[in-house]
Amino acid sequence: MAKAYINARIWRSDAEAFLIEDHRFVQIGDNRSILEAVKDGEVIDLKGAFVTPGFIDSHMHLAYYGYYLSTVPLGGCMSAAEIVQALNAKKEEMVPGQVLQGMGYNESAFTSGPKAITRADLDSVSAEIPIVLTRHCGHIACVNTKVLEMCGIDAVTSIEGGEIDYENGLLKENAMRPMLDTLGHANAAEFEEYIVKGMQALNAYGITSCGSDDFLLRSDSYRMPLDVFLRLSYQGRMTVRVNEQCEFRTPEDLASFLDEGYTTGVGNEYFSIGPLKIIADGSLGGRTAKMSEPYADDPATTGTVDIDEEKMDIMVGLANRYNMPAITHAIGDGAVDQVLRVYRKYLLPGNPLGYGLVHCQIMRQDQTQEAIDSWLNCYIQSLFVDSDAAILKERVKPELAETSYPWKTLYENTNTSNGSDAPVEIPDALRGIYFAVTRTSLMSGDLMNQAECLTVDQALESYTEKGAKAFGMDDAIGRIAEDYYADFTVMDTDITQCPVEDILKAKIIRTVVGGEDVYCA
Ligand SMILES: [Zn+2]
Repeated sequence: MAKAYINARIWRSDAEAFLIEDHRFVQIGDNRSILEAVKDGEVIDLKGAFVTPGFIDSHMHLAYYGYYLSTVPLGGCMSAAEIVQALNAKKEEMVPGQVLQGMGYNESAFTSGPKAITRADLDSVSAEIPIVLTRHCGHIACVNTKVLEMCGIDAVTSIEGGEIDYENGLLKENAMRPMLDTLGHANAAEFEEYIVKGMQALNAYGITSCGSDDFLLRSDSYRMPLDVFLRLSYQGRMTVRVNEQCEFRTPEDLASFLDEGYTTGVGNEYFSIGPLKIIADGSLGGRTAKMSEPYADDPATTGTVDIDEEKMDIMVGLANRYNMPAITHAIGDGAVDQVLRVYRKYLLPGNPLGYGLVHCQIMRQDQTQEAIDSWLNCYIQSLFVDSDAAILKERVKPELAETSYPWKTLYENTNTSNGSDAPVEIPDALRGIYFAVTRTSLMSGDLMNQAECLTVDQALESYTEKGAKAFGMDDAIGRIAEDYYADFTVMDTDITQCPVEDILKAKIIRTVVGGEDVYCA
């Protein structure tokens, strides 16, 4: 049955109404013509509310975000003592054999006590229950002695591509693997629960599509996550369209995926295979992002490489033969150098396959220029401003800070889409737009190079059209236009007209995917 939405204030349009049939926009126009066209169909009066295409979060971890919502959330804890208190409260409900897990802590934001959480803190909660906390960057875990014992990690253990601080119970990068393996992986039922929980939360933030990297978090291979996503999509249970950013532990695993006939573009309207995802380094907060020079605030380190160049080359080359492009997490300029070296071998003029750079943080001017000249898809996370604005100036020299997070330059010269990297950040797109426009941390008040601020319109595009383009779906999503899927977001404020602070107060009142309500305030 046809549905007419009338009295809408549509972003960048003089139209005030639209008609939806068979999950798509079929007509956009004035109230009168749409009311005539709908005949005896349903009419929904939006009463002047602001309507944009559904928000597209171009990089996150959907299942891991759902999982995060099921653990003890530590994002708001401002001291080690608060974390201990939150864990002690949860400990009471635990059944034997369960692991006590907390996620999202950020010691650099602590406002009292030492700016650290350690094994001793967790041992004070319990010596018997295994306790695992994951830092908000997702690249560092803090564990108690029980977990170290279970993983067989002692004072002399070393792991390639990882770092172990045995004394403090900190596992970085690849050193988190034995811990993840010991915890066990999610089964299909749990994984499904995470996805559904994650999608519901996204819908409440106005998000209708996402680029998501899910194969290796709470799983060690693509098989189970892929089966769950395909099943949910065929059952009509997806409320967010997912473009999977496919991560593999080994070239062999990637080869068997490709052998089965999967490659970029395979799938259906709710779940599709996106690019190969590679992680080249760690995070800026954890000083594991790979720099070309030592950290300004820790001259003993240049960070960590998560994948050596040879292995990366093998995987990128293999995927490339199946027309599957790579997108790579590279935060430090040292990692960006490695990525650009590998990409040069495979990139075609104009980048038709859609190779990309995820995060685009610590970058030199020559690297930004190469990304532009190669038409790389750039995946930025403006939400990072809040925690990174303060640490950027500590971690790198002023010249490098100045050319880092070059979002406007990238935005104006290549396809640059925005996302949250959830659960690293809460996937609140309106907040993301605020930070893209202000580049000013609410937490610390620090401003990042003002010349790289986006306008509200550009920030909105980075959360709609640009994401669609990154997924190769710009003929189907990201716009309110005839024949496009009827994915849209309704809010109570025209954020292109209000004072910038009011963007933070704007409320999502309705989210629609394929013509169906998936969220109503
Ligand atoms: Zn990520």
